Amino acid sequence: MVERVALLRAPNPSAMTLDGTNTWILASRTGEALCIDPGPAIPAHVDRIVAYLRENSLVLHAIALTHGHPDHAPAAPMLAAATGARIFAHPYSAAVHDDVLNDNQEMRVGDLQLVAIDAPGHTLEHLVFYERESATLFTGDTILGTGTVVIAPPGGAMRPYQATLRRLLAEFGDARTICCGHGPIVAEPRAKIEEYIAHRERREAELLAALAAGPQTIPDLVERIYRDADMRLWAAAARQMLAYLLALEGERRVSAVRLERPLTEREHAILNPDWVNVVGAEHAPLVEAELGAQLRLDTLYEYSLNLP
Ligand SMILES: [Zn+2]
Repeated sequence: MVERVALLRAPNPSAMTLDGTNTWILASRTGEALCIDPGPAIPAHVDRIVAYLRENSLVLHAIALTHGHPDHAPAAPMLAAATGARIFAHPYSAAVHDDVLNDNQEMRVGDLQLVAIDAPGHTLEHLVFYERESATLFTGDTILGTGTVVIAPPGGAMRPYQATLRRLLAEFGDARTICCGHGPIVAEPRAKIEEYIAHRERREAELLAALAAGPQTIPDLVERIYRDADMRLWAAAARQMLAYLLALEGERRVSAVRLERPLTEREHAILNPDWVNVVGAEHAPLVEAELGAQLRLDTLYEYSLNLP
């Protein structure tokens, strides 16, 4: 019998993608299929998806994208051309697509019932999917099988992300499994979502505790909080920190004062590293998309706590 939910992992392992992007093929009992995140534009991966469909006598009806990042969406037009399936994405998606899926919109393919959930945070055009019959949540880059997710401006935003996690816990905490965009299947969804919520709260508390020592720039904060971490992680940490600081500034819990001096070389290396040097030319475009590195941080701000 054909597997209800099958995983075909793309051959694109890296620091950003763990073992590679997870492409999910959902099969109805009557031979229709859905694909979630066809992955990067690697012809061999598309060929493998097409071969899997053929071997299992499945007809692909729809390709659903969690978000438009280069490791999730670019194979969609190739797979659509090979199968005739239509491509569905978030209304804000800049990826190639035929139709949009709004919040709570349901797609029926055979006995598959896929619900789209608007899930801003990692990007503002992110969808999570829930398949009712198998009680499976497909989280893309909102929740990963291992580790945590990058939330970096301008594509990512922290408070929307935290609201998304709380909504997933409230509405889908009883899901049977989570099939993530990267990493292994999660067997205990509720515990995983709770862990993700707690992690963000812990990081924010750390940041506030560091700011209690006095006004600091993002490079100051990174050097203080990530002292013991691999320096290659600092640029990612800096951009995550920016996501928290933007949220706290909006809530008037933190103030930012612009410093009228150029960045030192060390500050520049933390805020705007040369990604080709750090991760190599092959992975640089994905890292830049994930970390919002198109946003150059050439101005320094000093952040301080607003006392209640
Ligand atoms: Zn992503």
